[in-house]
Amino acid sequence: MAGGTVSQNRSGIGMTSQRTRDRLVRRLADEGIKNQQVLDVIRNTPRHLFVDEALASRSYEDTALPIGFGQTISQPYIVARMTEALLDGGLLNKVLEVGTGSGYQAAILSPLVGEVYTVERIRPLLDQARQRFFDLKLNNIRCKYSDGSWGWPEAGAFDGIIATAAPEQVPDALLKQLAPGGRLVVPVGARGVQTLILITRTADGFEQRMLDRVSFVPMLSGTQ
Ligand code: SAH
Repeated sequence: MAGGTVSQNRSGIGMTSQRTRDRLVRRLADEGIKNQQVLDVIRNTPRHLFVDEALASRSYEDTALPIGFGQTISQPYIVARMTEALLDGGLLNKVLEVGTGSGYQAAILSPLVGEVYTVERIRPLLDQARQRFFDLKLNNIRCKYSDGSWGWPEAGAFDGIIATAAPEQVPDALLKQLAPGGRLVVPVGARGVQTLILITRTADGFEQRMLDRVSFVPMLSGTQ
């Protein structure tokens, strides 16, 4: 694993240039992402700083990439789709993310919501992500080393919850920590056959909508 620091001067050259990022954003728009704010944040967020230097040249391709420990940084299209689905209900103050990973999804949420609470079960990934948030001055992101299937009870309720690892069933704790009107975006199912689901907390229960077929790493219990 590369050390915890992020080199700030890997910009402006070749595959990490603004032009490459613009091309990615045009592609996401062509693929149906409509929320202009989401597209703008993706345009302005240096995804190459969220992967190992050896993979930086591929960081603006629309693909998932390995981040170590058998985990991946999500595909930009999926990040955009999930963020768009989460924001669709209006302004969000508090958002919980389960599965910090590289920190990229949290960095995309950071300018779009009041506060991001992100939970990760693999300590070195969390430490690295925390350093990236610090370097990029993303001061509204709080991090916790924990099994996120329990949510973050002391910080809830949340206006939005996003899971970037797939449970076989939606954890009860996450439903409980959803504020009235709050939205939960979560990939559900066994490895390889998951459905991205949007759950909204209504006055008398929960409403559920299927969004996409997806493939995420599994949500595992305990910490590592
Ligand atoms: N949002 C990340 C995606 C990382 S992949 C990004 O933008 O890079 C999903 C992450 O979820 C992995 O880092 C994995 O360790 C983590 N994860 C899996 N189960 C978890 C759990 N129960 N609690 C917290 N994190 C979990």
